[in-house]
Amino acid sequence: MLRRVPQPVDVALSRSQAQLTIEWEDGAVSRLPIAYLRGWCPCAACQGHGTVVQYHEAPDDLGIELMAEAGAYALHLRFSDGHDSGIYTWTWLRQIAPDSPPKGLKNGRFVGGRFEEP
Ligand SMILES: [Zn+2]
Repeated sequence: MLRRVPQPVDVALSRSQAQLTIEWEDGAVSRLPIAYLRGWCPCAACQGHGTVVQYHEAPDDLGIELMAEAGAYALHLRFSDGHDSGIYTWTWLRQIAPDSPPKGLKNGRFVGGRFEEP
């Protein structure tokens, strides 16, 4: 069963703070350090084929070289280490907000490198 995911109303990348800030339509604000985002990369290489969500430590000085919308549902990020295969859906970005870390298996699954809620 799909429930509607809140949509972002503003997405701002601060290179000086190495942080992505997302304001959501329900008023929540997610502040996502870039290394933290890299750690939660949802791509198949980072997440393998298991269903348990994995976090990978990344250096704090990591940057974002490119940020683009991928359709209406996601952000495509290219990090300064060259890694660019992660498609960060709004669902995933909302999920990994530091005040609501992923709960793993029960909370969703990866389908073709994209995280989907059950
Ligand atoms: Zn990845």
